Amino acid sequence: MLEGKRNTYQMEKRYFHKDGHVVWVLLSVSLARNEDGSPRYFISQIHDITEQKRLVEELYRERSRLQIANRNLQRLAGRDALTQVMNRLAFDERLKEELSRARREGTPLSLLMVDVDHFKRFNDEHGHAEGDRALQAVARTLVSGSREHDVVARYGGEEFVVLLPATDAVGARVAAERLRRAVEEIDGLARRVTISVGCATLLADAESRRRGDPSALLAAADQALYAAKNAGRNCVRSAELQT
Ligand code: GH3
Ligand code: MG
Ligand code: MG
Repeated sequence: MLEGKRNTYQMEKRYFHKDGHVVWVLLSVSLARNEDGSPRYFISQIHDITEQKRLVEELYRERSRLQIANRNLQRLAGRDALTQVMNRLAFDERLKEELSRARREGTPLSLLMVDVDHFKRFNDEHGHAEGDRALQAVARTLVSGSREHDVVARYGGEEFVVLLPATDAVGARVAAERLRRAVEEIDGLARRVTISVGCATLLADAESRRRGDPSALLAAADQALYAAKNAGRNCVRSAELQT
């Protein structure tokens, strides 16, 4: 101001009151000049904005409380926040229901376990945010490549499951292969992503239906997935042992 570059300034300042509490102020200063332009006097105005500051801080705190509450609600509502597909909690419930239904109606039930290939490397090379985008794209592709009654869920970090009601082992294999190809064809990401898929099927016969339980079906799909990884990834394998 003294150099004539500006006529006013404003700044927020934090003061300590002599009894210890903090006082926030907005300081506004302007310079009155003589007729020849030389400085004459400053006008300083100090406005106590402690209350506004407190309200803004409260608003921020409230907002983060809401964000946490929102995430919890989504989880309880059964949605995964990143990909918007069903989350694991909801899926486990749904799996039980679909198993009972398959038993009741005497229909087969298939489960695909899907895992993104070399995803750690993808994150390392392209960053976590691009990794998140890739997971969203994979989820969307699994949903759009499945039938309406199929259930797609995010089962873990970069693992998804697809439940195929009234689908036998051959049908599961076909669906898995279709999804594998669709993921391979996603473009718009930093790099192509591929998935490995493990299939397991609960057969419709009485013996299978009697023995079948959620964890056996999941374990069988997981084993098949492991086989797909060992076979070189970007491929589909089916559980030998049909639970
Ligand atoms: P493999 O082909 O054997 O499956 O190799 P991989 O690297 O995919 O397997 P691994 O289980 O070692 O790594 C999974 C990686 O997935 C590790 C982690 O950084 C990443 N990941 C898990 N969840 C998320 C997520 O929510 N966002 C992102 N960006 N990455 C995630
Ligand atoms: Mg994994
Ligand atoms: Mg993986």
